[in-house]
Amino acid sequence: MVIGGGIVGLAVAAELASRGDRVTVLEKEGRWGAHQTGHNSNVVHAGLYYRPGSLKARMSVAGNASMIAFARAHGVPVEVCGKLVVATSADEVPRLKALAERAEANGVPAKLISAAEAREYEPEVACVAALRVESTGIIDFPAVCDALAGRLSEHDLRLHSPALAIRPAPGGVEVATPGGVVRADALVNCAGLHSDRVARLAGLTPAARIVPFRGEYFELRRPSLVRGLIYPVPDPTLPFLGVHLTRMLDGSVHCGPNAVLALRREGYRWRDFSLTDVADVARFPGTWRLARRYARTGAEEVLRSLSRKRFAASLARLVPAVREDDLVRAEAGVRAQAMLPDGSLVDDFLIETADRQVHVLNAPSPAATGSLEIAKHVADRLG
Ligand SMILES: Cc1cc2nc3c(=O)[nH]c(=O)nc-3n(C[C@H](O)[C@H](O)[C@H](O)COP(=O)(O)OP(=O)(O)OC[C@H]3O[C@@H](n4cnc5c(N)ncnc54)[C@H](O)[C@@H]3O)c2cc1C
Repeated sequence: MVIGGGIVGLAVAAELASRGDRVTVLEKEGRWGAHQTGHNSNVVHAGLYYRPGSLKARMSVAGNASMIAFARAHGVPVEVCGKLVVATSADEVPRLKALAERAEANGVPAKLISAAEAREYEPEVACVAALRVESTGIIDFPAVCDALAGRLSEHDLRLHSPALAIRPAPGGVEVATPGGVVRADALVNCAGLHSDRVARLAGLTPAARIVPFRGEYFELRRPSLVRGLIYPVPDPTLPFLGVHLTRMLDGSVHCGPNAVLALRREGYRWRDFSLTDVADVARFPGTWRLARRYARTGAEEVLRSLSRKRFAASLARLVPAVREDDLVRAEAGVRAQAMLPDGSLVDDFLIETADRQVHVLNAPSPAATGSLEIAKHVADRLG
């Protein structure tokens, strides 16, 4: 049984089915990929950012190839358009060079290019140097979910079916749902923003807690300013910060995401608030340690969330022609980011095993890209 019908859960279910298992998928919402999978940048990452040898590095590089192949084989829209990471000032160049070395270590083809060469790809970009990565693509991840669900038509797929309680049973587990108790000989937790809670329901006491970080987007009124994907040089300590410009498959250009603490695990707007979720975050010692460590960065992210002018200014560092009135608010997403009690953010994918159980406890970006690889890893661990 797989709990969670996002891209990771469905990929795991499809992988188990391909190995001959009968699979049940429980998804609490009325459609597949309703949360992180349906609210992201839809980028098939190349795998250049991640620590060599980490699960993220291995699974994004392999996942880039397997996801693109899967999409092509199943009629899912995908385009390998490549991307530019741009250094906007001389002090960013050493970090850009370090990124090029990391790309090489991860086996990702990437080329350092001059500002003039960068403008051949993106005429409106402002930079002093750039890294060109050819294997990055754009895709429709919800369509990938539908294709995966389509491959599971002979199996037991249940929408509107939250897992409410889990208890061990002879030879496996029993899971209570509003429709009754479902039995299985093995359990995989792919519950994304609720993965720590589902792990606790199953009797684990994971050290890490999910902290929800909302990522807000704007759509560019003048999409002609951007041809492909333009990213800033990441800050190695907080790599998910830094808004980028992403051309989508329909030709629109999305700008974002930023990162602000969400006041509900599935809180897509500032007014979405859950006392349980806020209390959960507030009681966790890691939150306060993180807040102290990054007070200034956090405050800047909140200000940028509240001010379209600031958001536009961040984008204008990459593409100076972007103005405040070019930005139209688009749907946000919420990242499920695992945090440890010492306030550190879990960097790599985190997958824990218990008797007849596998729990995916940290699967932030690039887990959609790497989902087919995560699925193989999880199926191997189930044995
Ligand atoms: C703003 C943003 C931008 C991103 N950009 C990219 C990108 O460009 N490329 C990329 O590769 N990755 C990106 N990511 C990351 C990517 O979206 C996630 O890594 C991926 O979608 C995780 O998939 P998942 O199946 O683990 O989680 P989810 O898609 O969140 O699925 C978990 C599912 O579990 C269900 N669930 C929870 N609790 C229960 C329960 N008790 N019972 C039953 N069901 C339950 C939920 O309803 C949900 O549908 C981005 C993420 C965000 C938020």
